[in-house]
Amino acid sequence: MQPQTLQPYIGRFAPSPTGPLHAGSLFAALASYLDAKANNGQWLLRIEDVDTLRNVEGACEMIIQSLRNHGLDWDGDIFYQADKNVYYQAGLDQLANQSQVYYCDCTRAKLREYPGPYPGFCRQKKRVAYADASAHTPASHAIRFHCGEQQYSFNDRVLGPQSFNMQTFGDCILKRRDSLFAYQLAVVIDDAAQAITHVVRGADLLESTVWQIALQQSLNLPPVKYAHLPVITLDNSAQKLSKQTGAAALNDQCANKNLQRALQQLNQPLPLSPEQLPIKAIITWAIEHWDIERIREK
Ligand code: GLU
Repeated sequence: MQPQTLQPYIGRFAPSPTGPLHAGSLFAALASYLDAKANNGQWLLRIEDVDTLRNVEGACEMIIQSLRNHGLDWDGDIFYQADKNVYYQAGLDQLANQSQVYYCDCTRAKLREYPGPYPGFCRQKKRVAYADASAHTPASHAIRFHCGEQQYSFNDRVLGPQSFNMQTFGDCILKRRDSLFAYQLAVVIDDAAQAITHVVRGADLLESTVWQIALQQSLNLPPVKYAHLPVITLDNSAQKLSKQTGAAALNDQCANKNLQRALQQLNQPLPLSPEQLPIKAIITWAIEHWDIERIREK
């Protein structure tokens, strides 16, 4: 069992309502929950529904129900992104005032010829110009973050020291051509709005973390501690278990089994005869025995 920290801890689980909870998302939800609770922290639930085109009807309710059925109860009210555009716009305005954004009218067809980081075609062209994309529907341009070529380093609690040069990633989109705010901007504004101190999530988001740290620093927002979990793959395949790869919805009737499997995948010990325990007892036991270091040892 890890020593309990005295620092305030506010963690979160931030699913996108693009489908029901599956084994990969339970893994991330459970890890972030146990880490928060083992550190006497709060665990908040944020529904990342900013990309309204990808939201699936009923998915949000299914995710919420599945979390409840697996004994993962969040603190406070559920936070929804869909009604937070005014805050995302304020963040964008701040970056624009700092001349850190620019219009980009590169078409998808053009960018397909340049796989890899965005080559910065529009960077010089319209660096300072800025206007609300939503004035045109669909907007004639996206708005990109001018990231520069800075080196960003952070100590990941699972993966250890990480260091990336922004050049490898290119300038990310903050507001899309279709006028929707992009995930990178929304998540940074939301983490600050919810006073998140610790993020525990899948390593498939490691690259996003670099953009997010760059955005936090540019917006003068407090830093967050990160822990990136190994990505759960489908049996006999290198494919990440995700809604996109057709991961099956969790069967809530098998919550006990699902939790056992997720704990094993997190390299955490199991109580004796877990199948005979109520869900809440497994969760309490798992909080008491949680050790994030064990994930790295796997
Ligand atoms: N909404 C993202 C997803 O469902 C997670 C974002 C995050 O944890 O920062 O993959």
